[in-house]
Amino acid sequence: MCGVFGIFGHPEAARLASIGLHALQHRGQESAGIASSPGGEVFLQRAMGHVAQIFDEATLANLPGIMAIGQVRYSTTGASRLRNAQPICLDTSIGSLAVAHNGNLVNAVPLRAKLAAEGALFSSGTDTEVILHLLARQQGSLGERMLAIMPMLQGAYSLLLTDGREVVAVRDPYGYRPLALGFRRDAHGEAWMAASEVPAINLVGGEFVREVEPGEVVVMRQGGIRSLRLAKLPGRKACVFEHVYFARPDSVIFGHTVYETRKRFGAQLAREAPALGAEVVIPVPDSGIAAALGYARESGIPYELGLIRSHYVGRTFIQPTVALREIGVRRKLSPVKEIIAGKSIVVVDDSLVRGTTSRQIIGLLREAGAREIHLRISSPPTAWPCWYGIDTPDRDQLLAANKTLEEIAAFITCDSVGYLSPEGLLQAAGPHDGWCTACFTGEYPEQLLTA
Ligand code: AMP
Repeated sequence: MCGVFGIFGHPEAARLASIGLHALQHRGQESAGIASSPGGEVFLQRAMGHVAQIFDEATLANLPGIMAIGQVRYSTTGASRLRNAQPICLDTSIGSLAVAHNGNLVNAVPLRAKLAAEGALFSSGTDTEVILHLLARQQGSLGERMLAIMPMLQGAYSLLLTDGREVVAVRDPYGYRPLALGFRRDAHGEAWMAASEVPAINLVGGEFVREVEPGEVVVMRQGGIRSLRLAKLPGRKACVFEHVYFARPDSVIFGHTVYETRKRFGAQLAREAPALGAEVVIPVPDSGIAAALGYARESGIPYELGLIRSHYVGRTFIQPTVALREIGVRRKLSPVKEIIAGKSIVVVDDSLVRGTTSRQIIGLLREAGAREIHLRISSPPTAWPCWYGIDTPDRDQLLAANKTLEEIAAFITCDSVGYLSPEGLLQAAGPHDGWCTACFTGEYPEQLLTA
């Protein structure tokens, strides 16, 4: 998973981009990068690690210009290493072209094979570089080129691009991943921006204007913005997992406040999967907090913070190996014995994937003396891998793909497990033109092409 941020029209574009990326750090912690331009030449800085460490004054001094695009990365295609960090910047016949991508293309393999057969050389292992090669083969402005190649691309892409003339924000026709448009006016003039999530726009002093629409290319350039659109759209497939887990709770995603949506998931879960006799509801921080609040309010069971989270450890799942994740959980969460000891507790988390995190959390709660532990998950069983940019493992590693509820409870070592139903999820998610629920239902809007 990744986060992207772009801005046009501010003399400190790269600095604002680094601040915007900081607000998106939860979407990717492996690498970060910014490409900027004063007009013409495109400058690039990227490194492994976190935004705050990478973009110090010295690095920002190498990123001049009034336009910038940036990305925080969590590898979903291509290994976790610097050559796969983004933005990716290549020199083409029309000058430098930089791209930052959130999402996964499902037809990257055949596209790449075709381009390679024609002699294209690739500098990274990502699906994103394919987009640059296709753009370089088109004519016209960057926005026009982008619109021309969209029918060739399948899968999820919320993109930011720059060629040193304009900054272009693009969302795939299904609109799987979010992308918001923002605007700011000050003594420097007017600046347009786009970001994966609205809090990034707010943090740099901008106001949310609207979403980049599915199938839309928004061109930010001198004089304002211009919108180009695909003529035919297939119907929306917004990723419901953004609401379940990925986005910040203070974000508004696909027209809904994430925090409120999560509370509704929790309330619905309490109706569908009550835990009789439980004395306290405990969230797994941070991902289960809002849903646990919803569960507690609906069930009338008291809510307590029985697990305290260290703020000096990042997202554990986001660590690329299981071994690193396992050490991470103990460093990150510690139980409050006084709340837990001797009690029957309901533990609420957002999702179960491999089950390794939950198994350890349940172990911590047992050590703290819990009498009964009922795990409640504020989404349906994650039984299918995501092909559109969320890192879920293959089916054979997905706990819910291979086990019954009783077997899951036994593996996690808790007394019972309960999930939200797919119908309950959609009802609580609220009105929308269309959700992608592939990770829960196996109903994939587009197929993954492996050859
Ligand atoms: P596990 O069941 O041990 O694989 O970990 C599941 C936990 O990791 C969930 O409770 C979420 O909080 C978090 N999580 C779920 N899916 C993802 C994902 N694709 N990327 C990062 N974290 C995730």
